[in-house]
Amino acid sequence: MSSEPIAGQRQEPAELMRGVGRVLLSEEAIRQRVAEIGQQISHDYAGRNPLLVGVLKGVVFFMSDLLRAVTIPVRVDFIAISRYDPRGRVKGPVRLIKDLDDNVEGQHLVFVEDMVDTGLTLSYLLRLLRARAPASLEVCALFNKPERRLANVPIKYKGFDLPDRFVVGWGLDYREAYRHLPFVAELKPEVLGLS
Ligand code: 5GP
Repeated sequence: MSSEPIAGQRQEPAELMRGVGRVLLSEEAIRQRVAEIGQQISHDYAGRNPLLVGVLKGVVFFMSDLLRAVTIPVRVDFIAISRYDPRGRVKGPVRLIKDLDDNVEGQHLVFVEDMVDTGLTLSYLLRLLRARAPASLEVCALFNKPERRLANVPIKYKGFDLPDRFVVGWGLDYREAYRHLPFVAELKPEVLGLS
């Protein structure tokens, strides 16, 4: 797929699109997969009123799609952590900036992530949540980059495996830009300052 505008789609500013490389996932493919995950979660958690927990901000897009795709009662909450360096290094230890609103002891948690890369962030957050004694804790991740994995993290509901490239769109940003793009694409190396 190319990054040329598709007929019928809104036009993004040329300046922004110059940084966007190969499109890896179309809107249609993402919507289809999210609908399937929503059905699966609805089936698995029927009668358990799970709490979906997301990490701000990238997950907001996936979370709102997922909330509309599930057909059982669910609740939602968010945490926020310190930011990630797009050149591939995590800046020091993960730091919690915003915690969950309520105590989650004895509750069924589904941890919803936009992207799992090294798995270090997820591994830290799962440890943090497990220490709060939930009744169950599973992971749902829309995008997964298995090639750079450093921590072994269990992903029960997975959207897509992606190659080891820095990608943007569908909630994923580069310096707060590109989040709104209705597809997932590679960011050109020159934008990242890697070329
Ligand atoms: P990990 O700790 O698994 O290496 O990093 C997970 C977080 O890094 C994701 O939640 C996301 O915020 C960020 N991240 C990892 N890969 C990418 C990427 O390709 N694009 C963007 N925009 N963020 C990424």
